[in-house]
Amino acid sequence: MTDYLDQAESYRDDVTSFLRDIIAIPSPSCGEGRVAERIIEEMNTLGYDDAIIDGMGNVVGRIGSGGLKLVFDAHMDTVGVGDPGAWPHDPYEGKLEDGIVFGRGASDNKGAIASQVYAGKLLKERGLDDADATIHVVGTVMEEDCDGLALGFLLTETIAGVDAVVLGECSNLAVYRGHRGRMEMRVSTKGQSAHASAPERGDNAITAMAPIALEVAELNGHLAEDAFLGRGSVAVTKIECQTASLNAIPDACAIYIDRRLTAGESLESAIKEIESLSGAGRARVEVLKYSEPAYTGLVLETDKYYPTWVLEEDHPLVAAGVSAGEAALGAPPSVGKWTFSTNGVSSAGRLGIPTIGFGPSEERWAHTVLDQCPVDDLVASIAFYAAFPKVAAEKGVGR
Ligand SMILES: [Zn+2]
Repeated sequence: MTDYLDQAESYRDDVTSFLRDIIAIPSPSCGEGRVAERIIEEMNTLGYDDAIIDGMGNVVGRIGSGGLKLVFDAHMDTVGVGDPGAWPHDPYEGKLEDGIVFGRGASDNKGAIASQVYAGKLLKERGLDDADATIHVVGTVMEEDCDGLALGFLLTETIAGVDAVVLGECSNLAVYRGHRGRMEMRVSTKGQSAHASAPERGDNAITAMAPIALEVAELNGHLAEDAFLGRGSVAVTKIECQTASLNAIPDACAIYIDRRLTAGESLESAIKEIESLSGAGRARVEVLKYSEPAYTGLVLETDKYYPTWVLEEDHPLVAAGVSAGEAALGAPPSVGKWTFSTNGVSSAGRLGIPTIGFGPSEERWAHTVLDQCPVDDLVASIAFYAAFPKVAAEKGVGR
């Protein structure tokens, strides 16, 4: 057993009860205030140098004050529970059975919060392994609603000059280095209302939209493919219209489009693609906006565009992730990518800050009624995050 794992083992019971505590505090997007307070309390108990809540409601705990600035990020918000009757147990009990913690957010993303917070304690005890580094352990808000918004705020307004970000999103203890981007669009057509008994007197906005919806479905089979990220995708996810009555010709129609973007695809290219459809000559294409207030009341309006990002396989940060895995767990972890989207859309996609992921549990449990995190993964992740700063400094991250 490695030195790091050995020390992380001594936190097994404490990290497990902390995870169960934070699962028991519901924290929907824009409602993370109570769980933020609980995390701050834990950081203070564990001897963090500093623990604050920023203007958007993100938790920021600090260990050390050296030159290499690293952020360990996990988001505090979770999706809802859906039908409570579909759960085999209370989603907010934090049930522990056979070494696995169950409950809403166990995998996505509270297991990572628990591990990262306890890695801070371990790093404090090890004196950061003499690495010249500052570690910020961060709990972000609103990731499920608008990935990247809160981490983007934190990296520009709360902490300046961060050299690298490690996302705790579930990776099954592998090092991840990117994922597809996504965006949400609205396509609208206008028509002219008339009595439905004489359709020729009007201009039917639904009829104008119909070929566009079919062309979007057709387009999905012709999108670009990337060897690492796979294909982009496009789908119509909703349709609505405005009509004076069921005996009137509708004068407005809109469809909503979910677009997943692979390498080389951008907001501009995706809009142009829709505008260029043969039926779309008179349609308007726009990107949806997000403008929900954070629990602190702060409103940051942003486009619902979440850029694709990939860190090169030979980047020093990927090498540091692999080495940290080896130092912590005794064998090099595999390197891969997420299927879902993460806060990396802002740290790497918008701000260009090198970003990787490493986290407990698996993507397949996220947002399901079997949401879960193995305690062994919590311990392994503590060891990984604790081993990371020293090897990051050695590999030249931030230089
Ligand atoms: Zn997540």
